[in-house]
Amino acid sequence: MLLRRIFVANWPNTFLLSATRRLCWRAYHSTTANPLGPSIMNQTRPRRVATEPLEANYIPSLHQATHQVLWIGCSDSNPRESNVFDFLPDQLLVLRNIGNMIVNDDLSSETAIKHAVVDLQVRHIVVCGHYGCGIVKTASRDGLKGPWLYHYSKLNSLYAAHEEDINKAPVTERDRSFVELNVLDQLRSLRKFTEVIDAIKNGHLQIHGLVYDTKTERAYRMLEGQQSS
Ligand SMILES: [Zn+2]
Repeated sequence: MLLRRIFVANWPNTFLLSATRRLCWRAYHSTTANPLGPSIMNQTRPRRVATEPLEANYIPSLHQATHQVLWIGCSDSNPRESNVFDFLPDQLLVLRNIGNMIVNDDLSSETAIKHAVVDLQVRHIVVCGHYGCGIVKTASRDGLKGPWLYHYSKLNSLYAAHEEDINKAPVTERDRSFVELNVLDQLRSLRKFTEVIDAIKNGHLQIHGLVYDTKTERAYRMLEGQQSS
């Protein structure tokens, strides 16, 4: 609770949008202006990914003890990251795995997503990556090897598709850029679920991409990929 108060106390700066709004633009290549296009492998001309400090009330709490949000986070992130919103514990359904990923044939994430959308009828799904993510960093350094074929191959493929552009960025920015790209990629996967498509179409569901800075305990929302339809 104390940490949450400290965090929220820092937010007045974010409300002074004209003075403090921070856009973090990163250059990538794409064949289409839509960053959520069907294939990241075909991206060949410049695009930019933007983040913005998350407003504390970006997803307002209903103040009801019912599940309101499915939170998809990374296993090695700070569990306090979900405190960026003023939710009651009962309002969050939390799914964590390595790299906050949504992968075909992963029954755990598939079941959680369908249960949240169909049975619990959550109003929001949040995919939250985090700067300093060990699994994302390993994928970008040596490539991931091991039995977790689908998770590892997806991250390796994502990095291979953007390696040239990522390496153009300053060294200190490369891992952060890849974390952001990974969140966008998971949003793309999320939008392929029939249940998600229908819920968005009916105006019942919104999906959001966030990145969390574990050092500052602040979160940023991806400006791309926030549209609900
Ligand atoms: Zn991580």
